[in-house]
Amino acid sequence: MKDILGLVLSARAKRGDIRKNLALQKLPSVSLSLNIPGYPKSDKTIAVFFATVLVQLKRYLKAQRIFLDEIKSLSQTDEAGDFFIVPLTVDSSLKHSVERVKEICQSFEGEHPLGRLIDVDITDRNGQAVSSGKMKGCFICEDRAAVQCMKEETHSKEELRDYIFNAIEQYLNKDTEKSVCRRLTTLATQAMLYEISLAPKPGAVDRLNCGSHEDMDYFTFLNSSAVISSYFNELATAGYCFNASKDQILPTIRMIGLEMEEQMFKATGSVNTQKGIIFLFGLTLFHAAWVIAQIGYFDLEIFIENLKQSTRGLVANELPTPSMEPAGGTTHGEICAQRYGLQLGGGIRREVEQGLPTVISYGLNVLKEHVIAQDVWLKEIDSKEPLMRTLLSLMSVNNDTNILFRKGPEQLEKVKSLALAVLKESGAEAREKKYRHLVGYCLKEHISPGGSSDLLAVTILIYFIELEFPSKPSAQSSKANTVASYEF
Ligand SMILES: [Zn+2]
Repeated sequence: MKDILGLVLSARAKRGDIRKNLALQKLPSVSLSLNIPGYPKSDKTIAVFFATVLVQLKRYLKAQRIFLDEIKSLSQTDEAGDFFIVPLTVDSSLKHSVERVKEICQSFEGEHPLGRLIDVDITDRNGQAVSSGKMKGCFICEDRAAVQCMKEETHSKEELRDYIFNAIEQYLNKDTEKSVCRRLTTLATQAMLYEISLAPKPGAVDRLNCGSHEDMDYFTFLNSSAVISSYFNELATAGYCFNASKDQILPTIRMIGLEMEEQMFKATGSVNTQKGIIFLFGLTLFHAAWVIAQIGYFDLEIFIENLKQSTRGLVANELPTPSMEPAGGTTHGEICAQRYGLQLGGGIRREVEQGLPTVISYGLNVLKEHVIAQDVWLKEIDSKEPLMRTLLSLMSVNNDTNILFRKGPEQLEKVKSLALAVLKESGAEAREKKYRHLVGYCLKEHISPGGSSDLLAVTILIYFIELEFPSKPSAQSSKANTVASYEF
């Protein structure tokens, strides 16, 4: 133990030398270290926490217009733990007194949830430590000074370390939750906007025209998208933190979804622009976040399996069958199921209950194939071609209840075959001609394949999530085990 103490003290002494060396340049410096009792003073978790705090500190100082001379910064881990030191820029050292910088750094410590672990020290241009004279509180007993508890040996090193490590872990978990959910929110918004903007789309609203719609245009969709996107984080967070019984999954998603629908109708003057998106994105964001929370990455198989389990019985419980008496005031989906049976008229409920077979086989696989074949990244301007092909592929098989409800099964089959004909055409010019014919046909017949547009949007979303949260190679080999152990 004596040896360790000696090593820690010598590491601290070396830090003093580093400060003195920086003072030779006559610049004040800022350093960050953590107050970890006992030994070792750093490990993998602490290092991640330190890196997180460092980013936060730099941002905090920048927001106060205090700039650091990063080229002269030094970052190291020694026996005394993780350490970072950097001089202020010449300009910042002239504009801010060291006392003011110390005050700001103390505010940073004070506002941080784990501020009592954080030491931000300031050294003036002569290499002298700038002290505020304020005592740090004890980590465990909030109302006592840390030195007092140390003197009286109120807590054992083990107790303190357990408490601190637990707090750091919780903090980092929360931090991960926030960043995962924020990222999922961004991807969902991006996917939704890609789908709406893709143009020209057969019969549907896009950024160039209104398709077969008279009651909505691109701006109606922008209005409802803005409203809907403000709930994506809530949906993702609900999935990330979910720990109730599985029969509560749908009600949890629907509680948020119903509010989204109300707000959508308010934003569009009672026009249904994206009810399908609300349903599909609600389920997808919730389940994707849930999978990532459980295993640390996105796994399509587990995602689909969970989705199937949580929506089991959706069709039987919520859609009427042809033998039932006609029910008044039902939705398009319900009327389609009653008129044409579940095979043809099961709509979006059937698609999710079966684990998104159309989206995966005719959407995601086609999108991946075309993105890879053309070596284009979807964020590039050339993304139109893979997206367009994916939409056509979805349209060629999807029993779109939007078409079925308004136009019946014959028109549905006609649109499916026209979409397939475009896909099968190998000549670029002939394909373009057939595509224009499909667009023209939908316009003439007032057909809008809105259901396929929704499937395209969710295809793009799942594609983005897979790219953003890939499984690690080592984790992939134990995939079978993961699936088996991941039970509701
Ligand atoms: Zn204490």
